[in-house]
Amino acid sequence: MDKHQKIRSFVAPVVFLVVWGGLLWYRSQTRMEFYNSGYQETMGTFVQITVAAQGQRQAQRFFAAAFAEIDKVNRTMNDWDPNSEISQLTQTAHLSPVTVSPELFEIIAASVEYSKLSDGAFDITVGPETQLWRQMQQTHQQPSPEVLMAARAKVGYEKLTLDPEKRTVRFAVEGMKLDVGAIAKGYAVDRATEALKQQGAVSGMVDLSGNVRCFGKGITPNGLWLIGLQNPRKTDTVLLKLHLNDMSVATSGDYERYVEVDGKKHSHILNPKTSESVGELPSVTIIAPTAMQADALSTTVSVLGKEKGLALIESIPCAAAIVTTAAEPEKPIQTSGATQFIFSNN
Ligand code: ADP
Ligand code: MG
Repeated sequence: MDKHQKIRSFVAPVVFLVVWGGLLWYRSQTRMEFYNSGYQETMGTFVQITVAAQGQRQAQRFFAAAFAEIDKVNRTMNDWDPNSEISQLTQTAHLSPVTVSPELFEIIAASVEYSKLSDGAFDITVGPETQLWRQMQQTHQQPSPEVLMAARAKVGYEKLTLDPEKRTVRFAVEGMKLDVGAIAKGYAVDRATEALKQQGAVSGMVDLSGNVRCFGKGITPNGLWLIGLQNPRKTDTVLLKLHLNDMSVATSGDYERYVEVDGKKHSHILNPKTSESVGELPSVTIIAPTAMQADALSTTVSVLGKEKGLALIESIPCAAAIVTTAAEPEKPIQTSGATQFIFSNN
Protein backbone atom coordinates (compact mmCIF):
# COMPACT_ATOMS: atom_id res chain seq x y z
CA MET A 1 0.00 0.00 0.00
CA ASP A 2 1.49 3.32 -1.03
CA LYS A 3 1.35 6.44 1.12
CA HIS A 4 -1.71 7.89 -0.68
CA GLN A 5 -3.68 4.66 -0.39
CA LYS A 6 -2.92 4.60 3.36
CA ILE A 7 -4.22 8.17 3.80
CA ARG A 8 -7.37 7.38 1.76
CA SER A 9 -8.16 4.24 3.78
CA PHE A 10 -7.87 6.28 6.99
CA VAL A 11 -9.70 9.39 5.84
CA ALA A 12 -12.72 7.66 4.26
CA PRO A 13 -14.06 6.08 7.49
CA VAL A 14 -13.40 9.30 9.43
CA VAL A 15 -15.34 11.34 6.86
CA PHE A 16 -18.12 8.75 6.97
CA LEU A 17 -18.28 8.88 10.78
CA VAL A 18 -18.31 12.68 10.83
CA VAL A 19 -21.09 12.86 8.21
CA TRP A 20 -23.13 10.13 9.89
CA GLY A 21 -22.67 11.69 13.33
CA GLY A 22 -23.59 15.08 11.89
CA LEU A 23 -26.77 13.70 10.37
CA LEU A 24 -27.76 12.09 13.68
CA TRP A 25 -27.09 15.36 15.51
CA TYR A 26 -29.08 17.33 12.90
CA ARG A 27 -32.01 14.91 13.24
CA SER A 28 -32.02 15.21 17.02
CA GLN A 29 -31.93 19.01 16.69
CA THR A 30 -34.77 19.24 14.19
CA ARG A 31 -37.12 16.58 15.58
CA MET A 32 -39.97 18.32 17.35
CA GLU A 33 -41.69 16.69 20.25
CA PHE A 34 -44.30 17.92 22.70
CA TYR A 35 -43.13 18.65 26.23
CA ASN A 36 -45.33 19.36 29.21
CA SER A 37 -44.39 21.52 32.18
CA GLY A 38 -46.68 19.70 34.62
CA TYR A 39 -48.77 21.81 37.01
CA GLN A 40 -47.03 24.84 38.53
CA GLU A 41 -48.60 26.96 41.25
CA THR A 42 -49.28 30.62 40.44
CA MET A 43 -51.94 33.34 40.83
CA GLY A 44 -53.66 31.29 43.53
CA THR A 45 -54.13 28.41 41.10
CA PHE A 46 -52.21 26.22 38.66
CA VAL A 47 -50.74 26.67 35.21
CA GLN A 48 -49.71 24.00 32.77
CA ILE A 49 -47.84 24.57 29.50
CA THR A 50 -47.42 22.22 26.56
CA VAL A 51 -44.96 23.16 23.87
CA ALA A 52 -43.29 21.64 20.81
CA ALA A 53 -39.50 21.77 21.17
CA GLN A 54 -36.30 20.25 19.84
CA GLY A 55 -35.35 18.64 23.11
CA GLN A 56 -35.82 19.01 26.84
CA ARG A 57 -33.37 21.91 27.15
CA GLN A 58 -35.19 24.05 24.64
CA ALA A 59 -38.54 23.17 26.22
CA GLN A 60 -37.25 24.27 29.65
CA ARG A 61 -36.13 27.58 28.14
CA PHE A 62 -39.62 28.10 26.70
CA PHE A 63 -41.29 27.25 30.02
CA ALA A 64 -39.00 29.60 31.97
CA ALA A 65 -39.82 32.55 29.69
CA ALA A 66 -43.57 31.90 29.93
CA PHE A 67 -43.58 31.43 33.72
CA ALA A 68 -41.56 34.63 34.16
CA GLU A 69 -44.30 36.57 32.31
CA ILE A 70 -47.07 35.02 34.43
CA ASP A 71 -45.14 35.84 37.62
CA LYS A 72 -44.76 39.43 36.46
CA VAL A 73 -48.51 39.77 35.87
CA ASN A 74 -49.18 38.19 39.26
CA ARG A 75 -46.83 40.59 41.05
CA THR A 76 -48.54 43.59 39.41
CA MET A 77 -52.20 42.54 39.65
CA ASN A 78 -52.39 40.63 42.94
CA ASP A 79 -54.79 42.60 45.13
CA TRP A 80 -54.13 40.26 48.09
CA ASP A 81 -50.58 41.65 48.23
CA PRO A 82 -50.54 45.18 49.78
CA ASN A 83 -47.28 45.95 47.92
CA SER A 84 -48.48 45.05 44.43
CA GLU A 85 -48.91 47.87 41.94
CA ILE A 86 -52.69 47.47 41.92
CA SER A 87 -52.88 47.69 45.74
CA GLN A 88 -50.69 50.80 45.75
CA LEU A 89 -52.94 52.37 43.13
CA THR A 90 -56.04 51.57 45.17
CA GLN A 91 -54.60 53.33 48.21
CA THR A 92 -53.91 56.67 46.54
CA ALA A 93 -55.93 57.10 43.33
CA HIS A 94 -58.77 59.01 45.07
CA LEU A 95 -56.27 61.77 46.02
CA SER A 96 -54.80 62.51 42.60
CA PRO A 97 -54.19 60.75 39.25
CA VAL A 98 -51.65 57.92 39.59
CA THR A 99 -49.29 56.91 36.79
CA VAL A 100 -49.32 53.15 36.27
CA SER A 101 -47.27 50.62 34.27
CA PRO A 102 -48.26 49.99 30.64
CA GLU A 103 -49.45 46.49 31.63
CA LEU A 104 -51.77 47.70 34.39
CA PHE A 105 -53.08 50.51 32.21
CA GLU A 106 -53.79 48.04 29.40
CA ILE A 107 -55.82 45.78 31.69
CA ILE A 108 -57.78 48.67 33.24
CA ALA A 109 -58.49 50.28 29.85
CA ALA A 110 -59.62 46.95 28.36
CA SER A 111 -61.83 46.32 31.42
CA VAL A 112 -63.57 49.66 30.97
CA GLU A 113 -64.36 48.64 27.38
CA TYR A 114 -65.98 45.40 28.62
CA SER A 115 -67.95 47.45 31.17
CA LYS A 116 -69.26 49.70 28.40
CA LEU A 117 -70.04 46.71 26.18
CA SER A 118 -72.03 45.01 28.94
CA ASP A 119 -73.59 48.10 30.53
CA GLY A 120 -71.67 47.48 33.74
CA ALA A 121 -72.27 43.73 34.11
CA PHE A 122 -68.50 43.33 33.90
CA ASP A 123 -66.83 45.82 36.21
CA ILE A 124 -63.39 45.68 37.85
CA THR A 125 -64.43 48.37 40.35
CA VAL A 126 -66.47 45.56 41.96
CA GLY A 127 -63.63 45.33 44.57
CA PRO A 128 -65.58 46.65 47.62
CA GLU A 129 -68.27 44.01 46.96
CA THR A 130 -65.85 41.12 46.33
CA GLN A 131 -64.13 42.17 49.58
CA LEU A 132 -67.42 41.48 51.42
CA TRP A 133 -67.75 38.15 49.58
CA ARG A 134 -64.26 37.22 50.80
CA GLN A 135 -65.27 38.14 54.38
CA MET A 136 -68.30 35.89 53.97
CA GLN A 137 -65.88 33.04 53.27
CA GLN A 138 -64.54 33.51 56.80
CA THR A 139 -67.71 34.38 58.73
CA HIS A 140 -70.29 32.36 56.76
CA GLN A 141 -72.69 35.24 57.40
CA GLN A 142 -74.18 37.57 54.86
CA PRO A 143 -73.35 41.27 55.22
CA SER A 144 -76.24 43.53 56.26
CA PRO A 145 -78.13 45.46 53.54
CA GLU A 146 -76.60 48.71 54.87
CA VAL A 147 -73.07 47.37 54.53
CA LEU A 148 -73.81 46.15 51.01
CA MET A 149 -75.31 49.50 50.05
CA ALA A 150 -72.25 51.37 51.34
CA ALA A 151 -70.01 49.07 49.28
CA ARG A 152 -72.15 49.60 46.15
CA ALA A 153 -71.70 53.36 46.47
CA LYS A 154 -67.99 52.79 45.77
CA VAL A 155 -68.58 50.62 42.70
CA GLY A 156 -68.99 51.76 39.09
CA TYR A 157 -66.60 52.00 36.16
CA GLU A 158 -67.87 55.52 35.40
CA LYS A 159 -66.11 56.56 38.64
CA LEU A 160 -62.77 55.79 36.96
CA THR A 161 -60.93 58.47 34.98
CA LEU A 162 -58.23 57.23 32.63
CA ASP A 163 -55.73 59.37 30.76
CA PRO A 164 -54.14 57.21 28.03
CA GLU A 165 -51.51 59.81 27.16
CA LYS A 166 -50.22 60.26 30.69
CA ARG A 167 -51.15 56.66 31.57
CA THR A 168 -52.89 57.78 34.74
CA VAL A 169 -55.82 56.41 36.70
CA ARG A 170 -57.99 58.42 39.08
CA PHE A 171 -60.84 57.35 41.38
CA ALA A 172 -63.82 59.66 41.92
CA VAL A 173 -64.60 58.24 45.37
CA GLU A 174 -62.48 57.25 48.36
CA GLY A 175 -62.64 53.56 49.21
CA MET A 176 -62.86 52.36 45.60
CA LYS A 177 -61.04 49.08 44.97
CA LEU A 178 -60.05 47.34 41.75
CA ASP A 179 -60.40 43.58 41.39
CA VAL A 180 -59.02 42.26 38.10
CA GLY A 181 -59.73 38.60 38.98
CA ALA A 182 -62.02 38.20 35.97
CA ILE A 183 -59.48 39.30 33.35
CA ALA A 184 -55.90 39.05 34.73
CA LYS A 185 -55.54 35.31 34.21
CA GLY A 186 -56.49 35.63 30.56
CA TYR A 187 -54.08 38.54 30.20
CA ALA A 188 -51.30 36.45 31.81
CA VAL A 189 -51.98 33.60 29.36
CA ASP A 190 -51.64 36.02 26.43
CA ARG A 191 -48.35 37.35 27.82
CA ALA A 192 -47.05 33.83 28.37
CA THR A 193 -48.02 32.87 24.81
CA GLU A 194 -46.19 35.92 23.45
CA ALA A 195 -43.11 34.94 25.47
CA LEU A 196 -43.19 31.41 24.02
CA LYS A 197 -43.42 32.77 20.48
CA GLN A 198 -40.63 35.27 21.11
CA GLN A 199 -38.38 32.45 22.23
CA GLY A 200 -39.09 30.73 18.91
CA ALA A 201 -41.79 28.24 19.89
CA VAL A 202 -43.96 27.37 16.89
CA SER A 203 -46.74 25.55 18.68
CA GLY A 204 -47.98 25.25 22.21
CA MET A 205 -50.78 25.60 24.71
CA VAL A 206 -50.99 27.56 27.96
CA ASP A 207 -53.65 26.52 30.46
CA LEU A 208 -54.04 28.72 33.52
CA SER A 209 -56.90 27.31 35.53
CA GLY A 210 -59.25 26.89 32.58
CA ASN A 211 -58.00 29.95 30.69
CA VAL A 212 -56.46 28.28 27.67
CA ARG A 213 -54.70 29.62 24.60
CA CYS A 214 -53.25 27.42 21.88
CA PHE A 215 -51.14 28.28 18.85
CA GLY A 216 -49.56 26.41 15.94
CA LYS A 217 -49.98 22.75 15.16
CA GLY A 218 -51.76 20.82 17.91
CA ILE A 219 -51.26 17.31 19.23
CA THR A 220 -54.11 15.55 17.40
CA PRO A 221 -53.35 13.80 14.06
CA ASN A 222 -55.14 16.60 12.18
CA GLY A 223 -52.97 19.20 13.88
CA LEU A 224 -55.66 20.68 16.11
CA TRP A 225 -55.73 21.10 19.88
CA LEU A 226 -58.31 19.17 21.85
CA ILE A 227 -59.88 20.81 24.91
CA GLY A 228 -62.39 19.09 27.16
CA LEU A 229 -65.11 21.12 28.89
CA GLN A 230 -66.01 19.92 32.37
CA ASN A 231 -69.56 18.95 33.20
CA PRO A 232 -70.37 21.62 35.85
CA ARG A 233 -72.53 19.22 37.85
CA LYS A 234 -70.29 16.15 37.50
CA THR A 235 -66.84 17.66 37.41
CA ASP A 236 -65.01 14.38 36.85
CA THR A 237 -66.78 13.99 33.49
CA VAL A 238 -66.41 15.82 30.20
CA LEU A 239 -69.41 17.67 28.82
CA LEU A 240 -67.99 18.08 25.35
CA LYS A 241 -64.71 18.34 23.53
CA LEU A 242 -63.54 21.26 21.42
CA HIS A 243 -60.96 21.13 18.67
CA LEU A 244 -59.29 24.33 17.56
CA ASN A 245 -56.21 26.17 16.46
CA ASP A 246 -54.80 29.61 17.33
CA MET A 247 -57.69 30.33 19.66
CA SER A 248 -58.45 30.83 23.33
CA VAL A 249 -61.04 29.21 25.56
CA ALA A 250 -62.13 30.32 29.04
CA THR A 251 -64.77 28.95 31.37
CA SER A 252 -66.42 30.78 34.27
CA GLY A 253 -68.60 28.84 36.60
CA ASP A 254 -70.38 28.70 39.91
CA TYR A 255 -69.14 25.22 40.74
CA GLU A 256 -65.55 25.81 41.81
CA ARG A 257 -65.54 28.95 43.91
CA TYR A 258 -68.54 29.67 46.11
CA VAL A 259 -69.47 30.24 49.76
CA GLU A 260 -72.31 28.37 51.41
CA VAL A 261 -74.42 30.43 53.84
CA ASP A 262 -77.59 28.94 55.39
CA GLY A 263 -77.60 26.18 52.78
CA LYS A 264 -77.41 28.61 49.86
CA LYS A 265 -74.43 28.76 47.50
CA HIS A 266 -73.00 32.19 46.70
CA SER A 267 -70.76 32.15 43.63
CA HIS A 268 -67.68 34.43 43.45
CA ILE A 269 -69.12 36.18 40.40
CA LEU A 270 -71.26 39.12 41.47
CA ASN A 271 -73.77 41.39 39.81
CA PRO A 272 -72.11 44.74 40.60
CA LYS A 273 -75.47 46.56 40.59
CA THR A 274 -77.12 44.32 43.21
CA SER A 275 -74.05 42.84 45.02
CA GLU A 276 -75.70 39.43 44.59
CA SER A 277 -73.93 36.31 43.41
CA VAL A 278 -75.03 35.17 39.99
CA GLY A 279 -76.52 31.69 39.63
CA GLU A 280 -78.38 31.32 36.36
CA LEU A 281 -75.59 29.64 34.40
CA PRO A 282 -73.52 26.89 36.04
CA SER A 283 -70.86 27.28 33.36
CA VAL A 284 -70.05 29.73 30.59
CA THR A 285 -67.36 28.92 28.03
CA ILE A 286 -66.13 31.54 25.58
CA ILE A 287 -63.99 30.89 22.52
CA ALA A 288 -62.16 33.98 21.23
CA PRO A 289 -58.84 34.93 19.63
CA THR A 290 -57.17 36.13 22.84
CA ALA A 291 -57.30 34.66 26.33
CA MET A 292 -58.06 38.10 27.77
CA GLN A 293 -61.16 38.42 25.60
CA ALA A 294 -62.31 34.91 26.51
CA ASP A 295 -61.71 35.49 30.24
CA ALA A 296 -63.50 38.85 30.41
CA LEU A 297 -66.41 37.70 28.24
CA SER A 298 -66.98 34.48 30.21
CA THR A 299 -67.48 36.50 33.40
CA THR A 300 -69.61 39.04 31.50
CA VAL A 301 -71.99 36.35 30.18
CA SER A 302 -72.19 34.77 33.66
CA VAL A 303 -73.53 38.08 34.97
CA LEU A 304 -75.78 38.90 32.00
CA GLY A 305 -77.45 35.47 32.01
CA LYS A 306 -78.56 33.27 29.13
CA GLU A 307 -80.61 35.59 26.96
CA LYS A 308 -78.65 38.83 27.15
CA GLY A 309 -75.33 37.02 27.38
CA LEU A 310 -75.79 34.87 24.28
CA ALA A 311 -77.16 37.86 22.35
CA LEU A 312 -74.04 39.84 23.23
CA ILE A 313 -71.72 37.06 22.03
CA GLU A 314 -73.71 36.64 18.79
CA SER A 315 -73.04 40.32 18.13
CA ILE A 316 -69.25 39.89 18.43
CA PRO A 317 -67.97 38.38 15.14
CA CYS A 318 -64.86 36.63 16.50
CA ALA A 319 -66.38 35.19 19.69
CA ALA A 320 -68.50 32.10 20.44
CA ALA A 321 -70.16 30.85 23.62
CA ILE A 322 -71.27 27.53 25.07
CA VAL A 323 -73.33 27.76 28.26
CA THR A 324 -75.09 25.34 30.57
CA THR A 325 -78.24 26.29 32.45
CA ALA A 326 -79.18 25.44 36.03
CA ALA A 327 -82.37 23.77 34.75
CA GLU A 328 -80.57 21.43 32.31
CA PRO A 329 -76.85 21.52 33.12
CA GLU A 330 -76.07 18.56 30.85
CA LYS A 331 -77.58 20.17 27.75
CA PRO A 332 -75.20 22.87 26.58
CA ILE A 333 -76.55 25.78 24.55
CA GLN A 334 -74.31 27.53 22.08
CA THR A 335 -74.06 30.53 19.80
CA SER A 336 -73.90 29.94 16.04
CA GLY A 337 -70.13 30.49 15.93
CA ALA A 338 -69.43 27.65 18.38
CA THR A 339 -70.50 24.73 16.16
CA GLN A 340 -67.27 24.68 14.13
CA PHE A 341 -65.25 24.11 17.32
CA ILE A 342 -67.25 21.19 18.73
CA PHE A 343 -65.44 17.90 18.23
CA SER A 344 -67.80 15.62 20.15
CA ASN A 345 -70.47 15.60 22.81
CA ASN A 346 -69.79 13.25 25.71
P1 ADP B 1 -62.23 32.43 37.68
O1 ADP B 1 -61.44 33.39 38.49
O2 ADP B 1 -62.78 31.28 38.46
O3 ADP B 1 -61.59 32.03 36.39
P2 ADP B 1 -63.80 34.53 36.49
O4 ADP B 1 -62.85 34.74 35.39
O5 ADP B 1 -65.23 34.56 36.13
O6 ADP B 1 -63.55 33.19 37.26
O7 ADP B 1 -63.49 35.68 37.56
C1 ADP B 1 -64.22 35.79 38.75
C2 ADP B 1 -63.55 36.82 39.63
O8 ADP B 1 -63.76 38.11 39.06
C3 ADP B 1 -64.12 36.89 41.02
O9 ADP B 1 -63.44 36.03 41.91
C4 ADP B 1 -63.91 38.36 41.37
O10 ADP B 1 -62.57 38.54 41.78
C5 ADP B 1 -64.10 39.07 40.05
N1 ADP B 1 -65.49 39.46 39.75
C6 ADP B 1 -66.65 39.04 40.35
N2 ADP B 1 -67.73 39.60 39.77
C7 ADP B 1 -67.26 40.41 38.77
C8 ADP B 1 -67.89 41.27 37.82
N3 ADP B 1 -69.20 41.39 37.76
N4 ADP B 1 -67.09 41.94 36.96
C9 ADP B 1 -65.74 41.82 37.00
N5 ADP B 1 -65.10 41.04 37.89
C10 ADP B 1 -65.84 40.33 38.76
MG1 MG C 1 -63.20 35.72 33.57
